[in-house]
Amino acid sequence: MSNEKNKAAPAPAPPANFLRNIIDQDLAAGTYVRAGLPPVITRFPPEPNGYLHIGHAKSICVNFGLARDYQGRCHLRFDDTNPEKEDTEYVDTIIDSVKWLGFSWEQQGTEHLHYASDYFEQLYHMAEYLITSGHAYVDSQSAEEMQKNRGNFGAAGTNSPFRNRPAAESLALFRDMKAGKYKDGEHIVRAKISEDGMASPNMNMRDPAIYRIRHAHHHRTGDAWCIYPMYDYTHPISDALEQITHSLCTLEFADHRPFYDWLLATLAEGGFFAQPVPRQYEFSRLNLTYLVMSKRKLRQLVDEGIVSGWDDPRMPTLVGLRRRGYTPEAIQLFCERIGVSKADAWIDMSTLEGSLRDDLDPKAPRATAVLRPLKLIIDNFPAGLSVACTSPVHPHFPERGLRTFPITRELWIEQDDFMEVPSKGYFRFFPPSGDAPGSRVRLRHGYVVECTGYDKAADGSVAAVHVNYFEDSKSGTEGSNTYKVKGNIHWVSAATALEAEVRLYDRLFTEANPDAGGKDFKAALNPNALEVITAYLEPGMSATLPDQRFQFERHGYFVADRVDSVPGKPVFNRVTTLKDSWVAK
Ligand code: ATP
Ligand code: MG
Repeated sequence: MSNEKNKAAPAPAPPANFLRNIIDQDLAAGTYVRAGLPPVITRFPPEPNGYLHIGHAKSICVNFGLARDYQGRCHLRFDDTNPEKEDTEYVDTIIDSVKWLGFSWEQQGTEHLHYASDYFEQLYHMAEYLITSGHAYVDSQSAEEMQKNRGNFGAAGTNSPFRNRPAAESLALFRDMKAGKYKDGEHIVRAKISEDGMASPNMNMRDPAIYRIRHAHHHRTGDAWCIYPMYDYTHPISDALEQITHSLCTLEFADHRPFYDWLLATLAEGGFFAQPVPRQYEFSRLNLTYLVMSKRKLRQLVDEGIVSGWDDPRMPTLVGLRRRGYTPEAIQLFCERIGVSKADAWIDMSTLEGSLRDDLDPKAPRATAVLRPLKLIIDNFPAGLSVACTSPVHPHFPERGLRTFPITRELWIEQDDFMEVPSKGYFRFFPPSGDAPGSRVRLRHGYVVECTGYDKAADGSVAAVHVNYFEDSKSGTEGSNTYKVKGNIHWVSAATALEAEVRLYDRLFTEANPDAGGKDFKAALNPNALEVITAYLEPGMSATLPDQRFQFERHGYFVADRVDSVPGKPVFNRVTTLKDSWVAK
């Protein structure tokens, strides 16, 4: 039975994890039984201020994956409350990347694509409610005073002199803030959570800011607003408005959870939301070795021209990984393999590359490419003769058919398939020496040839290898297997080879933790992360379309670059080598 048939079998149940356990308990208890709504609604909430990276892919797979597995739905929501940093360019690429990963926010004909900015009106009214009900006030301290009075971790701060300002005064000020009567930073709205005030042991509970003045143009609301809600205020409310059940985020938000709960409970009391309100759960972020993932550092690589752009195939961005040749299935497989937990861990880059190889091996058609060419001349092969050779498109799936390429008198082979003086156990090409004949080698899918000598260039390098062939040794013909040879190498016909640019990509950093301990991550850049070569490919490869992937036999997986390939002239990126070459380094 072929692997393809095996593949059609139902996928095994996903492994249990703490989030599934929580959802299972909620399902058993009927926590979120609400008319017309699925019992699991999650969301992926990126800020449109950069490109998504492999870390976001984990969050996407967790949120969309759980929704899919529990027949719920997952919303894509843009947390767009920082107008200066955000842009529609980022909105578009994020939408593209989530779709490319294979997920959808559509359910029964309804698109669940949301923007926090769609809620600005509601967010504003809820803030007015919090002020009038004594749960928020307008603070008019300067930024420095506020900073000073915040205290630190372990040391209580000092309450603002405006904390007990009458609600009516705060409300009037807030309305004037909205009307544009003040400059940025003149006033701010803060939550008033408990009598602890600035003594709360949780810094996030020390009267957190909920609204600020920003005279800034917003990519969606234009100049309609000059006050913008804070992330910590917007996020829980957006979750509640969208009737999210499980609000899943990374561990650094654990300290924000008390405010999340307080805010939603307070607004539910005020009649804005029905119980049960959403609940937040945290999982550990993805950290991958040999990478940096912070948006700031990735932006630095782009801005300083160290990489060619956000979609440079060395970048850990989803657009970069896509251009590199990663498949959405490989990334999903990787996310399944690493699982989800609360334990902070570093995942080795080889786990990501392993998922990619496992995904590509059954899919990728095979092809021949000579990357470091050396001329091979079959002296007894008639000039002008061309004999067709065939090879399976995929060795494990004969049903995918054969590919055909010619053998001619002059071929390209790899430079390291010839040694003037063979080392022990070397079975590829070497010349006669004394009484010993030259090596006999099979040209894969072609003939057995025997090395008779070689030419040297003026600089001492090997210019060409000479061989004779055995006419009755052609692969697949009767009697061909009477030739017993230990070397079996790939080649392409020089007369018909496709000359192509091949970009040999490798890891962007040479150190497992390039930014550990705050050190300069650029010092660990891998100078060999990109080498551009001209290679010779079997002639059929000229028909390659952008994004098509192949296994170049003996070399690894390659993809036709989606940006620079033109019809008839593909440019190839090395996706990954066949084996992990970084072990034990
Ligand atoms: P910034 O670098 O500006 O802090 P961010 O990476 O947190 O940005 P967001 O747009 O806020 O970017 O992230 C969207 C979601 O992706 C958040 O829920 C966040 O927790 C999650 N996320 C970001 N990085 C990772 C990561 N490395 N592993 C898992 N989830 C992540
Ligand atoms: Mg963030």
